[in-house]
Amino acid sequence: MIRIDSVTKRYPDGTVAVDRLSLEIPDRSITVLVGPSGCGKTTTLRMINRMIEPSEGTILLDGVDIQKQPVNTLRRSMGYVIQNAGLFQHRSIVDNIATVPRLLGWSKQRARERAAELMERVGLDSSLAKRYPYQLSGGQQQRVGVARALAADPPVLLMDEPFSAVDPVVRKGLQDELLRIQSELGKTIVFVTHDIDEAIKLGTMVAVMRTGGRLAQYAPPAELLTAPADAFVEDFLGADRGIRRLSFFPSGALELQTAPVVAQDADAAKIAARGSADVPYLLVTDLDGKPLGWGEPKDLKAGEITPERLLPYGRPFVHGSDSLRAALDGAVLSPTGWAVGVDDTGRVVGVVSQQTIGEAIRNAHAQGSGDDVRAAG
Ligand code: ADP
Repeated sequence: MIRIDSVTKRYPDGTVAVDRLSLEIPDRSITVLVGPSGCGKTTTLRMINRMIEPSEGTILLDGVDIQKQPVNTLRRSMGYVIQNAGLFQHRSIVDNIATVPRLLGWSKQRARERAAELMERVGLDSSLAKRYPYQLSGGQQQRVGVARALAADPPVLLMDEPFSAVDPVVRKGLQDELLRIQSELGKTIVFVTHDIDEAIKLGTMVAVMRTGGRLAQYAPPAELLTAPADAFVEDFLGADRGIRRLSFFPSGALELQTAPVVAQDADAAKIAARGSADVPYLLVTDLDGKPLGWGEPKDLKAGEITPERLLPYGRPFVHGSDSLRAALDGAVLSPTGWAVGVDDTGRVVGVVSQQTIGEAIRNAHAQGSGDDVRAAG
């Protein structure tokens, strides 16, 4: 565990970049430092690997003051990833990734094998190995940066705005990849960003910092969204925090109805039996159980049901693994106000009304925070 204990950084010109910061950074999880530009995030990160020395206070790694460790040993235990990847432009991708193993004296052969293994791990095609950084897209370069930082298998990864320079779609891919890598490798990651959505998506713990290098709040994301410590944090979280918080509640507790679901080949008696006063629409599925669309029972003529005549079914949610937010979104997008729940093969498992989702949301609010569910779709 990394423990930052009452650390202050005063630059020679008098700027207090970090002011008496204390944080306990748990092992094998992602801790995000987030806040507006200039609030001291990078300074904090760089004090962890001693690129910057604190003016006051101590930083402990597994209980040992990092000042008492040789700086080279310390840095070897910490991979470092920055924006735009910071790759060596005159070295091939494979040699970029092999940099630290080579410095550690690994043979060329072994270092390259390790690099190849890491390329696969971060989702880079092996055909890119011999290329140079300028021949890669921004997102690919960023993956190389992550692979390079992982090369000597350090227990800690320090990441400074690593995904800020790539477009939103690529960025989402990189974030998903990082979550996957973290869950596979169990690294302790300290991640700096100014983007609160990124912080909420990636962080197990999120430290919100304010200008002057002071900690505004340190909490799991669901707790930040539920109970911002003050107006600054609330403002920083943005307008739709109530909706975003629903990402932390699974949809599994929603009770789905199966009665309003009929297959395309249903006969007239079945259609008539399924329609009722409180179920104005029926969801029609194909013979495989995949959704086709909604229709009113009176409009559904047995033997003549075609998808073109049905109302769109909107965006289904995966019952269980998707969140209450996804279910709500499905219901809001549906012209009927009902959301379609599917299993992970896309087959319908039932439908749920906006009203039922609303009740589940009220229950979720009553439950308060403390949920440690990772934000789902
Ligand atoms: P962030 O990463 O949150 O944008 P930084 O840690 O880079 O913030 O900077 C925190 C504050 O310290 C800012 O006001 C910045 O201008 C100042 N600062 C950063 N580096 C130096 C330096 N070498 N000398 C003087 N002031 C600095």
